[in-house]
Amino acid sequence: MGIHLLPTEVVDQIAAGEVVERPAHLVKELVENSLDAGADHITLEYSEGGRYVKVVDNGSGIDPADLPKALQRFATSKIEKAADLWRLNSFGFRGEALASIASVSRLTLTSRRPGADTGSRLIADFGKMGPIENVGGSFGTTLVVEDLFSNVPARLKFLKTAAAEGTQIKTVMKALALAYPQVDFKVLCDGQLIFQWLQASSHLQRAQDVLEVEKLYLGESTRQDIRVQAVFADPNTTAKTSKNIWLFAQNRWIQDRSLQVAVQEAYRQLLMHGEFPIAAVWVQMDPENIDVNIHPTKSQVKFVQPGDVFRAVQSAVRGTLEKAPWVQSLAEQHFHSGIDTNPTGNPPSTSFIAKSPEPANFQFQDQNLDRVQFPKKEMLNLETLKKYAPAKIRPAASFASVSDVDSQLSSPPAEFSTMKEEAPAKDLISDVKEAPRKFWSQLDVLGQAHSTYILAQSEKSLFFIDQHAAHERINYEQIMSAWKQGNGPRQDYLFPLVIDLSEEKVQALQIHFSELHRLGIELEVLGPGSVGVKSAAPALKESAIAQVIEKVAFELCQHGDSFQFEKWVGDLCATLACHSSIRAGQALSLPEMKSLLIEMDAFPLSTFCPHGRPVFVEYPFYRLEKDFGRIV
Ligand code: ADP
Ligand code: MG
Repeated sequence: MGIHLLPTEVVDQIAAGEVVERPAHLVKELVENSLDAGADHITLEYSEGGRYVKVVDNGSGIDPADLPKALQRFATSKIEKAADLWRLNSFGFRGEALASIASVSRLTLTSRRPGADTGSRLIADFGKMGPIENVGGSFGTTLVVEDLFSNVPARLKFLKTAAAEGTQIKTVMKALALAYPQVDFKVLCDGQLIFQWLQASSHLQRAQDVLEVEKLYLGESTRQDIRVQAVFADPNTTAKTSKNIWLFAQNRWIQDRSLQVAVQEAYRQLLMHGEFPIAAVWVQMDPENIDVNIHPTKSQVKFVQPGDVFRAVQSAVRGTLEKAPWVQSLAEQHFHSGIDTNPTGNPPSTSFIAKSPEPANFQFQDQNLDRVQFPKKEMLNLETLKKYAPAKIRPAASFASVSDVDSQLSSPPAEFSTMKEEAPAKDLISDVKEAPRKFWSQLDVLGQAHSTYILAQSEKSLFFIDQHAAHERINYEQIMSAWKQGNGPRQDYLFPLVIDLSEEKVQALQIHFSELHRLGIELEVLGPGSVGVKSAAPALKESAIAQVIEKVAFELCQHGDSFQFEKWVGDLCATLACHSSIRAGQALSLPEMKSLLIEMDAFPLSTFCPHGRPVFVEYPFYRLEKDFGRIV
């Protein structure tokens, strides 16, 4: 066979293999065309797992004379010259999608420009275009695709079940809805309405509708020309895969491993192994700094400054996570609602309150409290209890004052001494004063269960606090902040510990000596292939030091940049924190427990241990009331 140009139909089918590999891709192309046409009402109907698709929009429509061009390859109304590729403000620009789809389906394109007397229609039967007909119909464009891939049996074979293809279509629609909050979307599957997302005023509101997570939080950041908005769930609300991290660049849904990691990194030490964040992130930047033309389905992009984008995303999420807004809402729920109404501990739901037969029965009375508060006589003594546990739950108004918390701290009783070593009370006071909200320190400590869990109560709930997890979290934050301030605790060695490493590793370490020093590990170069440890954090066992240094050196050689270093520091702090924390099974005195709770308030993220396990479990009293049949 001599060399010859391929016929158009073959070229289109080849392109179709790339652009519309699956029905979900087709849906994406069609809906993106509607968005490019400025539509703000878009309805998608599909059946047979997307082999039948209908998209109706109220966008700008197509002139009758242009209808055939719309179905031609490389015909587009969106760009003219190569330079336009760097100033894109539309999804489409290649003019390939409709031509590709038309070559593998029976496609009906109906369109009416706003204000036009009539609409017009063009049918293409597996690539063969019919005549342009005049029709009525509403303003905008309707595209129907039928019998997808009927002429390409090989491709048909690769389609999964209708349900599986449907799942992909739903995912695509969710992504598009997240990208365009201002657009009304309706999705029907086999004639049934499955999604309806009404116009939303913000990303946050749209994300709440689409992700179906009740409470989401917003974080924002800017770095040079990069602007990031991130909406995400608290670390209690997680997913089992990374699929719930939705990423958008210039309103395009993208797959980007690095930004996905940026979101996960922001949750560092807040999630357990196997838990993934639920988050949507929108990144906007000058169009010159992003290339969207690197992938057939345009699902991947290239950033000119990937490092900056990474950091901007990470800090948008982390910035809000660090304020632990979910703890605040927990506090509001517990204390603020207590001021006005509802002293019963019932949940705010009116139906519950209405059903409660005798709400007055469940008020706190001193006697009630006393009965619960002395489960273990030998451990609790009345004097300390009176001093540390307020006899009654305080009304919300008094929580603004931290004076009694402070006075407890400034004259710590003898029992505090063990904890004081690790957490100097003075530092703590200043932190406590700065902390925006008191929650844990306001709880009444009831006792210790199983020598592992601190039992405490608020007006509305009983709390079990894992003493090891709680203390670990506090230590972690203290070590991290010591590192940030450059004064980690150190223990000097009489003779430096010699560690042999490759020259490359020694050099990599050397660059970071000062940072390691701030963490409490002081190194010196002893030769081209060895370092000496002059001092280390007291919590770090001597036997573990060589391993730790080896690991840091390895990481630094592998990745080199300071981000990896920060990540590693986080891990190291978690290890140090774990080794210096109260163990499970260790009996604690009431003041010790109380002081632990006070410390918990000093750090914003203290509701999860550094390994992401929860620090506490809450039992609302209404649940007890229910269990005891006091309410139905
Ligand atoms: P591209 O989107 O890359 O331009 P397509 O093949 O998807 O290529 O579409 C070709 C052209 O058809 C578009 O440039 C646009 O002018 C027109 N078009 C397609 N869908 C619509 C629509 N829903 N509303 C208005 N015009 C449309
Ligand atoms: Mg297009």
